[in-house]
Order: sequence, then C-alpha cells, then structure tokens
Amino acid sequence: MDSTKRMLQANRAWVERKLSLQPDYFTEMAKEQKPEFLWIGCSDSRVPAEEITGTSPGELFVHRNVANLVLHTDLNVMSVLQFAVETLKVKHVIVCGHYNCGGVKAALSHKRYGLMNKWLRQIKDTYHHHRAEVDAFETYDQRVNALVEASVVEQVHNLVQTSIIQRAWHEEQRPTLHGWVYALSDGLIKPLVQLDPDTRIDDAYRFDFDDVTG
Ligand SMILES: [Zn+2]
Repeated sequence: MDSTKRMLQANRAWVERKLSLQPDYFTEMAKEQKPEFLWIGCSDSRVPAEEITGTSPGELFVHRNVANLVLHTDLNVMSVLQFAVETLKVKHVIVCGHYNCGGVKAALSHKRYGLMNKWLRQIKDTYHHHRAEVDAFETYDQRVNALVEASVVEQVHNLVQTSIIQRAWHEEQRPTLHGWVYALSDGLIKPLVQLDPDTRIDDAYRFDFDDVTG
C-alpha cells in the first residue's frame, strides 16, 4: 500500500475509535473552537505539538514555520497572532524551539540557501548579538543549541514588541508568553522564559493605549 493510502486508512480507523468512545465527538468539535494556547513551533516533522504536550484537538491554535520565528513583517504569523489573541482570546502564547534545529544550523553556516537566506536572516542577527556567549561553547552541537535557546528568547521579545500583545496586556491582562525548547534526544521540554502581562516593556518598543485614537 502506498503511504498516502495508509494515512487515509488510518484516518478512518481514528474516526471509528473516536466515535466508539464518544458518539457525538465530531458534532461537538465542529461547533466552535476555544483553544487556551497559541503554539508557535518549528515545521520540523519530529516536533508534533499536540503529541508532546498531551493536548487534544481543540486545545492548541498552531502556527509552525522554519525555526519558529516571530517576524513583524511576516503577514502569516502576525495574522495568526492577532486572530488567536483578539478573537480566540488565548491565555498563553508558547514559542517552542527545539535543539539541533536545521534552520538554526543553516543560519550558523555560510552556505547560500536562496530565498531561505532572507527567512534565516534574523537568526544570524541573534547570533551576531549573542556571539560571545554562543562561541564560548566548545562543540558545534553546543553552539547550535545555545543559539536555539537565544533565538527562542528573541522570538518571545518579538511578541512583546507587537501592538497586538501590548494592547491585550493593557486591556485584558493576558496572554502570558512562554519560551520553551524541546529536546529531540529525550523528548523533554525545557522552559526558558515566561513573561507575564505586567512585564515592563522596553520604552523603544512601547505603544500608548490610553489616548482616544488608540
Ligand atoms: Zn527546527
């Protein structure tokens, strides 16, 4: 059997399993979604958001891209963020990177990747800013993983710098922002940073929300 046929067959078996446990599972699921979390993760096939966090359909609103970047010029991630925060009203936004990330390795190299050069550029900037601490590690793998961590923290700060997060913090005291990193080698998630809605915002990036024009 070819591999896509296998997937469709597995889908039917999954539907039967779900229905046998709860006959109205799909009727209920189809009504609406009220996820508590926005998950921003890497596209890497080895980091399945729901499976590694024990969450079920309906619990995570998910955005994945190469190296889990939050770029202000990316309409895709910004639209997902706005919808999750302003319409779904998620309570937590989680940026989850992973050690040994191919995107981070590519950014650390001097190879040209065509369009991907543009996408990976911010990781190079993060490396530039954290060069001393990253280069202090002895092995290549350690340096990659140090940059993985630095980049996750950078993405969480990118979230804070959006008017979307700042407005929600100002008006509704949510969401809490989290930076996590997943280890492919043992399956464990390590929390790196958590920013609550009362976190002080760097003045250079702070927007005003008290004026009438908003
Ligand atoms: Zn990755």
